[in-house]
Amino acid sequence: MGYKVGFGKHKDETLEWLFFNDPGYVRWMVDKGVAREFSGIVRSRFEYLVLRAMNLAVPGKCRNCNRPISRMRLTKNASGKLAQVDFLCDKCPQIGGSRPLVTMPAFFVPDFFKSNDKRGEKALVDSIKYAFYGKKMRMTQEKMVEFFDEPSNFVNP
Ligand SMILES: [Zn+2]
Repeated sequence: MGYKVGFGKHKDETLEWLFFNDPGYVRWMVDKGVAREFSGIVRSRFEYLVLRAMNLAVPGKCRNCNRPISRMRLTKNASGKLAQVDFLCDKCPQIGGSRPLVTMPAFFVPDFFKSNDKRGEKALVDSIKYAFYGKKMRMTQEKMVEFFDEPSNFVNP
């Protein structure tokens, strides 16, 4: 279950694994057109995962009010790395934090942050896992596939 990447530094990992463990690498693959190396059905699955990873329907309530979550606010620290992730509604994203970036909830740290912010990427993925599961989840391949194939986890499934 799950297609292997088949090349590069994560060649023995599955496509789903990339998103939960090295989303910066996914971005790099997309930006550099490396994803074109995938053949047919593997490429379709990858593109499907990328689209879903950019359109998360985060469950629960805004951290400031009772409205549903529709944004994520990312706050930088002094060295330009991701310091904090908050999930908010569309009404209260600007409260608190210095120099925040507000975007659709997604697996990816935008260019606004220093590239190669591995710790920030891990913090973002951990925040997503916590928001969806309410605890620190160990993501098996089966769990990762379940996550990506559950339509209610995404805004535009
Ligand atoms: Zn709110």
